[in-house]
This record gives sequence, structure tokens and C-alpha cells, in this order.
Amino acid sequence: MAASQLQNPLKTPSSQLSIKKHKPSFLKPRRLTVSAAHPHLNGRKLRVAVIGGGPAGSSAAEALASGGIETFLFERSPSTAKPCGGAIPLCMVDEFSIPHHLIDRHVTKMKIISPSNLTVDFGSKSLSAHESIPMLRREVLDAFVRNRAESAGAQLIPFLVTHLEIPSSSLSPYIIHHTVNNSRKTLAVDVIVGADGANSKVAKFIKAGNYTCAIAFQERIRLPDEKMEYYQNLAEMYVGNDVSPDFYAWVFPKCDHVAVGTGTVCGKQDIKMYQQGIKQRVKNKIKDGKVIKVEAHPIPEHPRPVRVRGRVALVGDAAGYVTKCSGEGIYFAAKSGRMCGEGIVRASEGGEWMISEDDLKREYLMEWDKKYVSTFRFLDLLQRVFYGSNEAREALVEVCGSEYVQRMTFDSYLYKKLAKGDGWEDLKMVFANFGSLMRCKIVGRDMAAFNL
Ligand SMILES: Cc1cc2nc3c(=O)[nH]c(=O)nc-3n(C[C@H](O)[C@H](O)[C@H](O)COP(=O)(O)OP(=O)(O)OC[C@H]3O[C@@H](n4cnc5c(N)ncnc54)[C@H](O)[C@@H]3O)c2cc1C
Repeated sequence: MAASQLQNPLKTPSSQLSIKKHKPSFLKPRRLTVSAAHPHLNGRKLRVAVIGGGPAGSSAAEALASGGIETFLFERSPSTAKPCGGAIPLCMVDEFSIPHHLIDRHVTKMKIISPSNLTVDFGSKSLSAHESIPMLRREVLDAFVRNRAESAGAQLIPFLVTHLEIPSSSLSPYIIHHTVNNSRKTLAVDVIVGADGANSKVAKFIKAGNYTCAIAFQERIRLPDEKMEYYQNLAEMYVGNDVSPDFYAWVFPKCDHVAVGTGTVCGKQDIKMYQQGIKQRVKNKIKDGKVIKVEAHPIPEHPRPVRVRGRVALVGDAAGYVTKCSGEGIYFAAKSGRMCGEGIVRASEGGEWMISEDDLKREYLMEWDKKYVSTFRFLDLLQRVFYGSNEAREALVEVCGSEYVQRMTFDSYLYKKLAKGDGWEDLKMVFANFGSLMRCKIVGRDMAAFNL
């Protein structure tokens, strides 16, 4: 169907622009707006297309459909798996009602290994009995969250989005061009949520600007049983110039294999050399293993310059929500998708009213920034201080030996709350960090990095 043949779903006679009626409090917007940009939709619901069916898109679609919005979820390849380590924070299991049987491994032990092979056990003492880092396969997690969005009422469209037509007025529809097996189609919608990952087309179409990306490379390796036994509930992080000039390398346990990988921003052209570096470091532990998959994917390094334009909002990797230092993005993708979906439901009062750029900024962007900007900035600072040189990495591993540091790290990672410290212990930690950095002669050079 040609775009011109599509009925404009946004036409609303001016006589129907009226004051918004009272709605139950959970749908109540934070400010009443009466303007031509917010007409009542009169007999139909707000139509929202979510582009990308990963954790960000599916969580957005679920929130939208549950809130009464007419929701379309585009996913170009529902059966394939995003290259990913699959580690999620513990709080995500409850917050996103992830069934326990989807979890392959419960990591209760971590080792962090310095350039000189100084090894610190991270977790064996500082995790309590009920705590672990859940590890999932992305194909399993993504299919589950996507199915749940469909059950909530979202319509899954398993097609590739190829082009967006941006409307010239604040009330005309966005036209989404999509294709499968050479068959081309279009769909007109009021609002778009761009959840199409690090290579986001939606971001390009709305001129959201670029971000720097790291490249992550990993091999899935099936190990002999006795070697797999070692990684049963253990994850390893390696730091050093041999495995990455600015990030870490990892061995993560999966259902019946391990993922061995590394990432870098500044040494992308040498990523294969760094991959050889990590394989060399774990040579004996992965001996006789069989590589079953090789994968690589970009990881955004910071949020995009623009995350909302017109009636389009970006979430997850498309927006740039991956933390420095840990490279964590699954939780932030799902959380941003849900916050954006709920924001649209609130602003449109359950899909009754048209929304505007201001609504998206107020209900989604400002809420997101209020909650997470300081976390992202803090982890950016840590990455700059501790991942820059082998001396700094030795200091990092040394500092990680403190049980207090480990507990604070787990509280922040597992529960996504700014950990409440103990004043005296915090002071000791500052001096311990400073001492480690001094020993490694890097303080002077990297103090500039504190200038956030
Ligand atoms: C190697 C590696 C390891 C990682 N390990 C971890 C980890 O252990 N823990 C963690 O928290 N994070 C990890 N991350 C980061 C994490 O994978 C991402 O942050 C997360 O996947 C972001 O989710 P998303 O929904 O925003 O995007 P994605 O998961 O990338 O999903 C985007 C979806 O959009 C679809 N799509 C794209 N374009 C179109 C189009 N034009 N039309 C239709 N559909 C489209 C894609 O098929 C895809 O399904 C890792 C990343 C990499 C690369």
C-alpha cells in the first residue's frame, strides 16, 4: 500500500479539542495541556511503533500495550541471538518478572586478574547466600520478553524497517517502510520508539547525532566436562594491555559453554590481537575446547546528543545507555524501554490524546536523566582512572581485594541503587585507593580525569 493511500490517523476536527477529563491517578499527566498539539484522538487510540525487539523494544511495547496504546513491535529477525555476555543484575529478575528457569547459571564467584596475574576473588566472601549474578542466553531472554509484549496486546511485525518518512507537521503521521522477502509495506503511526540497537536507523532518520562505539568480540567455546566444571558458577575478568588497551576481557559461563571475549574503543583495528591475548591468558583453562560461534558487535560509549526529536524517542543501545567500566546494557535497555512506554501512556492518558516532543522529554527523558546520569558519569570516571595503563590496572585489582569495596560494588551492580556507605570505611577506601594509585605512579597524570 502506498503511503498516500494510508488514512491519516491523526486528523482531529478542531471542534474536538477540549480540556482533558479527569482520569485515574496512575494515568494523570503531571501538567494539563490544552493545545492544538494535544488533540483528543476521538474514537481511536494513540498508535505507537516500537522498532527493535530486544530488551529495550519489548519492554517498551509491553508497557505501551498494557497501558492501552495501539502498539506495533517491529523485529527483523526474531529467531537470532544478539552477541552478548548475558549477565544481568539480580534486581532485574524480580523487577522484570524473569522466570528462574530461564537462567542458565548463577555466578557466585568472580575473579579479577591483573596484568601481572595478581588474582583477586570477588564475591566468595562478599556475596550473601541468596545472591548471585544471573547469566542468560539472549535468544531465550529476548524471546520471552517479546512474547510477553505480544500477550499484553502488542502486534509483532517480524519485518525489517528500511525507511522512515518524517512528517512535516506536528499532527501528521510518521510512515514506516518495512520489508520481508522483497515485499514492501508501510504503516502510519503517531509516535515511534527507536529500540533498534547500536546501529540504529531510527537515530539516523531523526538526525540524533553519533556516539563513539567500542567493539566487542567474543567466541563461544564448548569445553570438555572437567574444564567446564571449573566455570560452573565462576566468571573471570582480565585486565592488561595484552587483552585490551582500555577495557577488560572476560570468560563468562553459559548453559553448556563459555563466552571468551574482549572489547576496546581505541584499538578496534587490533581486536583480533586482543582476543588472542585473552585466549593466551586462559590457554590451559580452555584447552581442547571447540569454538562453536564467533561474534562481534558495537557497544555505545555514551548517550547520543539527541534522544528525543519530534514524536520519536530512542531507548536502550539506540540511545547509548551502556555503562562504562562494566559494559552493562541489558538492564538499562529494558528499564529505559519501560520508562519510555510508561511515560507515553501517562502523557496520552492511556492513548486518548496526541502527545508532543515536550511530553516525551518531560515524561521519559527528564525522569531517566534524574535517575541515572550520576551512575553513568561515575562509571565513566572509574574507567578513565583504572583502565588507562597497566599500572592503574594493577591498582584496580589491588583495590578490589577490599571486602568493603566488593560489597559496595555488588550493592550498586546487583540492586542498581547508589550504595549507602559507612563514613569511616569510605574514608579508609579513599586512602586505600589513593595509596594503590600512588604506588602505581599514576595519580598526577590521571587527576585530570576527575574533571567530569
Ligand atoms: C559481546 C557483547 C557482550 C555483552 N555483554 C553484556 C552483558 O553480559 N551484560 C549486559 O548487561 N550487557 C552486555 N552487553 C550489552 C548489551 O548486549 C546491550 O546493551 C543490549 O543488548 C541492548 O539492548 P537493546 O534492546 O537496546 O538493543 P539490541 O539488543 O541490540 O536489540 C535491537 C533489536 O533491534 C532489531 N533491529 C535492528 N534494526 C532493525 C530494523 N531496521 N528493523 C527491525 N528490527 C531491527 C535487532 O534485530 C535487535 O533484535 C554486551 C554487548 C556485546 C556486544
